[in-house]
Amino acid sequence: MPPEILTIGLAGNPNCGKTTLFNALTGAHQHVGNWPGVTVEKKVGHAKVADITLEVVDLPGTYSLTAYSEEEKAARNFLIEDRPAAVIDVLNADSLERNLYLAVQIMELGVPLVLALNMMDEVRKRGKDIDTALLTRLTGCPAVETVARQGKGKREILVAAFDLALEREGEWKPLRITYGPDLDPVLDEMEAIVSRHGIMAGKVPPRWVGIKYLEGDPGIVRRGREADEAAGMRLESLTAKVADHLLKTLGTSPDAIIADYRYGYITGIARQVVRYPAIDQERIRMSDRMDQVLTHQFAGPLVMALVIYLLYILTFAVGKLPMEWVQGAFSWLGNLLEASMSEGQLRSLLVSGVIAGVGGVLGFVPLIMIMFFLLSALEDTGYVARMAYMLDRVFRIFGLHGTSVLPFIVSGGIAGGCAVPGVMATRALRSPKEKLATLLTAPFMTCGAKVPVFLMLAAAFFPGKEAVVMSAVTLSAWVAALCVAKLLRSTVVRGESTPFVMELPPYRMPTLRGLCIHTWERSWEYMRKAGTIILAISILIWAAMTFPQLPQEKALPFVERVQAVERQIAAAKAQNAEAPSGLEAALKGIDAERSEAALRNSFAGQAGVALEGLTAPAGFNWRVNIALLGGFAAKEVIVSTLGTAYSLGEIDAEEASPLSEMLVKDESFSKAAALALIAFVILYAPCSVTIVTMAKEAGWKWALFSMTFNTALAYVAAVVIFQAARLIG
Ligand code: GDP
Ligand code: MG
Repeated sequence: MPPEILTIGLAGNPNCGKTTLFNALTGAHQHVGNWPGVTVEKKVGHAKVADITLEVVDLPGTYSLTAYSEEEKAARNFLIEDRPAAVIDVLNADSLERNLYLAVQIMELGVPLVLALNMMDEVRKRGKDIDTALLTRLTGCPAVETVARQGKGKREILVAAFDLALEREGEWKPLRITYGPDLDPVLDEMEAIVSRHGIMAGKVPPRWVGIKYLEGDPGIVRRGREADEAAGMRLESLTAKVADHLLKTLGTSPDAIIADYRYGYITGIARQVVRYPAIDQERIRMSDRMDQVLTHQFAGPLVMALVIYLLYILTFAVGKLPMEWVQGAFSWLGNLLEASMSEGQLRSLLVSGVIAGVGGVLGFVPLIMIMFFLLSALEDTGYVARMAYMLDRVFRIFGLHGTSVLPFIVSGGIAGGCAVPGVMATRALRSPKEKLATLLTAPFMTCGAKVPVFLMLAAAFFPGKEAVVMSAVTLSAWVAALCVAKLLRSTVVRGESTPFVMELPPYRMPTLRGLCIHTWERSWEYMRKAGTIILAISILIWAAMTFPQLPQEKALPFVERVQAVERQIAAAKAQNAEAPSGLEAALKGIDAERSEAALRNSFAGQAGVALEGLTAPAGFNWRVNIALLGGFAAKEVIVSTLGTAYSLGEIDAEEASPLSEMLVKDESFSKAAALALIAFVILYAPCSVTIVTMAKEAGWKWALFSMTFNTALAYVAAVVIFQAARLIG
């Protein structure tokens, strides 16, 4: 039976779960004080084994036992001065090597030590295992697996510490690590001197004092001189001599050699003790063979191009169908309301504001789901890491990362993507600076909603050359994105690039469950966050294009003209004859003219007219201005608004040839203006859905930056192009 209360110390690196284990062991029986001489908190609690009360002390978290920090000093003094009956070293078993560094130092002191292999849940989750029995045999310290958070193993570790304390009865058994041919002889000599003069005798092993001299520990050196001036000086001169020798021969210092050998010892243990799953070796070999092709100098980029193309095709070709279903459902809903409600502002609000807005948001969901599903698959297999590896050298020139290619492609890097999932895809980038630069430039890419604008302009001013125009547009978008990225990375988003780590994880088969969970989480997040804000923006845009309404005196002529036509139709009917088809067309024409007048009269229209002064140098008239204003909400709006502004009524963005003809005929629009407009649409503010998504990813500050910066850039580019094109003719 032990004579007095047994003290058990709990040591460990910060965040290894020490406090969690302490709480599990002591429950409510604890009190808090201070370590002597330092301001570090000391926690003491009690636990019982076989009716014997143990005092458990939570040591400050430290990585080593040198006396540089207050925490290290407190922990070391406790071990040396209080001489606990046993110490439990809590190790984060998931990074065993790093955690063993402290354990080995405690072993070198010789304190009775048990190892708590904590966080074993994490270890198992990674498919690793630790041979605890072998660890015990190699270190001579009992090891127990624990999961402190669940209280697993707490009883076992306490009993192990208790048993060891009883067995050792205060005896310390220091571990002797070899420190190599230079230091070992010196240590032997020092050990003899320390023993002979009784330096710190009875407190610490003599060899440990020698190690501390070699590590240059000032506290120990002082104690050496206090114990025996001459012996202390002798130890110091031995240290100085070997230090000098090491500097000359190896270009290093004794403490560095000590650290090296300790790590060598630890690595030796960890290599034997930590088990990776048996299939791993086979998997790594497989993976290497695959990489010989997939990251091959020539084959690699080819495969990558194919993968990118497939990702793009699958997302947008497959996504097109459900996207059309969603949009179809919403337009059906809109038609239903239109038919069942009487004409008025409420109906207009519901149909053009609410339903169009929500439909616009939900229309993207299928794209986002498919894109994230495929992207998660690429990421989980490990292929994204290979892509990044192959592309990094190119993208690095522009301050981006190899992984930036994905957001660019998804946003429309091959014309016809969407910046919303593109911006969300920037999450694959781990460095915040590179993510930000990618996120800010990806929206330059030619998204599916911008394509009809370019096609319509190409049909008008470059008939038969649509493909050439589209290729030029796509190329310009890339050039713009990369140059702006370079600009941002050397100004507002300045900072080091992440060093590229060549280490490629072995390929892995993704699980369907994992992919579905990823996909759902991200899509749901988008719907929830984007939905509300976009609804508000959509209503705002609707209001800007609807109010103020056409005043009575301006609306009246249209009403009178309609009545006149209707009278003609009625007259024809009265004579039992077919009404001439021209009359129906006339009705439509009047309606379109009325819409144009109403639009011009609205806030948006007034703004468009007011902006003519500013946009004249770029060649844009008020009609173009309104369309571009609408484009702030969604790029789909551009063509349809232009249609309304040119009195064409509702036009289909995909079938915009009447609009092309109107533009060619319009005196106030020109080929030069068309070129400027193309540049402007490539560059200016991302649509509202993208802005909201950006704000979610990077904060409103950057979302608003993108809106203003891109628009300013677009304006400058448009003016330069318009003026230059006019000069050349
Ligand atoms: P200390 O700095 O060593 O005192 O560490 P704490 O006790 O504060 O624990 C750090 C974190 O690790 C906390 O979030 C704990 O919940 C967590 N943790 C502790 N033990 C375990 C464990 O066995 N498994 C897992 N997964 N987490 C743990
Ligand atoms: Mg703690």
